[in-house]
Amino acid sequence: MTELDTFPPRHQKKQKRRYRLTRRGWLAVVILLFLVVVLAEQCIKDKPQEAIYPELIGNVAVITDLIPSEYAGRTGIKRTIKWIVIHETGNTAASATAENHNSFLHSEKQMNNTTSWHYTVDDHEIYHHLPDDEVGYHASDQLTPDGGNACGIGIEICVNDGGDYQQAVDNAARLTAYLLDSYDLGLKAVKQHGDFTNKNCPERLREGEHWEEFLKQVKQYL
Ligand SMILES: [Zn+2]
Repeated sequence: MTELDTFPPRHQKKQKRRYRLTRRGWLAVVILLFLVVVLAEQCIKDKPQEAIYPELIGNVAVITDLIPSEYAGRTGIKRTIKWIVIHETGNTAASATAENHNSFLHSEKQMNNTTSWHYTVDDHEIYHHLPDDEVGYHASDQLTPDGGNACGIGIEICVNDGGDYQQAVDNAARLTAYLLDSYDLGLKAVKQHGDFTNKNCPERLREGEHWEEFLKQVKQYL
């Protein structure tokens, strides 16, 4: 038996070690990529929760009128719910009610528009436009991991002239509390649109102490 039969030549040994290191490196890259993909789409990868369709919040009727499934606003992307994302419509026209926002979402010009949200609340009605377990594009953060779109239910509060804004906010607080209860979320799940992007929304609720007051209202309805 020669030395060569027993021991691999030194250069072969070296090559083998280098090969092993490379393989380990690749394995690390693959594991890292896998984790990035899984974590990036956490809400979307999770088992979707069963969506609820409330009919009455306090004394306010909830009208479910889902955006047609062939519209671009209906992403069809199912996910779990982590946030309730509060918006204000920013439209002070007297006609900018929940009903008219619902009509807008159903209009032909919205057919190819991906912007969509789940609820619009005014002083006397709530419209439900999108199943809660379906992603809507309302938080200006695409499908950012743990983001407002990927994981949030979007609620628009009307600020229409002639409407009772405080009542609309109260209705939104009741709806938010109801959704927190239904999806087993805490008060910390209540977010502003502005938490996910550099946008001053909900504009009025972000002034002074109004946001803290809103959270207190939500807490009182839990
Ligand atoms: Zn907003």
